[in-house]
Amino acid sequence: MKFEFLGTSDTGGIPLHNCHCEICEEARESGTNNRSTSAFLELGDGSVILFDAGYDLLSEKFNTTKIRAIFLTHFHADHCLGLIRLRKSTDKIRCYIPHDSNGFGDLFTHKDSIEYVVLEPFVEVVLEGVKIVSIPLIHSKPTYGYMLTCKGVVAYLTDCASIPKTSFSFLQAHKISHLFLDACYEPSYASTKHLNWESASEVIDAINPKNGYLIHASCKTLLPLKKSGKSLKYPYIPSGFRVEV
Ligand SMILES: [Zn+2]
Ligand SMILES: [Zn+2]
Ligand SMILES: [Zn+2]
Repeated sequence: MKFEFLGTSDTGGIPLHNCHCEICEEARESGTNNRSTSAFLELGDGSVILFDAGYDLLSEKFNTTKIRAIFLTHFHADHCLGLIRLRKSTDKIRCYIPHDSNGFGDLFTHKDSIEYVVLEPFVEVVLEGVKIVSIPLIHSKPTYGYMLTCKGVVAYLTDCASIPKTSFSFLQAHKISHLFLDACYEPSYASTKHLNWESASEVIDAINPKNGYLIHASCKTLLPLKKSGKSLKYPYIPSGFRVEV
């Protein structure tokens, strides 16, 4: 099975609208467009399970592909905006979510084809032989990360300022093959909502997966990193990054 990122950036994407920094100009020259962080798991029959739905072109990308379910981390626009078009699908699509009575926009008023299912923490959902567990994270809205067990184990952990103790112990107790973690900012930027590349690297070290990666960056994060010439222990991954699981 293939776990692939539709985007690995912060809300504004890369290139950022009307930003002429080195990172954004490079993206324009190479014709790349890194959108908000979201991913999908492609199953053996070509159908998919989505992790977040902030990608604005979901109905084009998966035009006639069966979407088995969506696991939403939280109701910030960059993770759920794609639901606004996808809810008009002729298929019923189940969307697993954390407890959040506010949701986003009119998504709960006009559910249309989306069937929302609230998950309790550490609940295991089994779909097509893949086990998916909800893992509470600390962010500015109720937020889950998800751990998927296929042949290997993937932890998709975006967005978070920190990881609660119970979630931390749960992650440490599993042999994770690929861990993807929010590292939205550079270390000098104080945030109560997101990790930075230093704090995220410390968290990955403590969980000790086989492979660790950083996600949810903006050009404001990648530019100082590039200028510093630093090479990080765990890399920021580009849009389209995929692993076999
Ligand atoms: Zn820029
Ligand atoms: Zn968020
Ligand atoms: Zn986000």
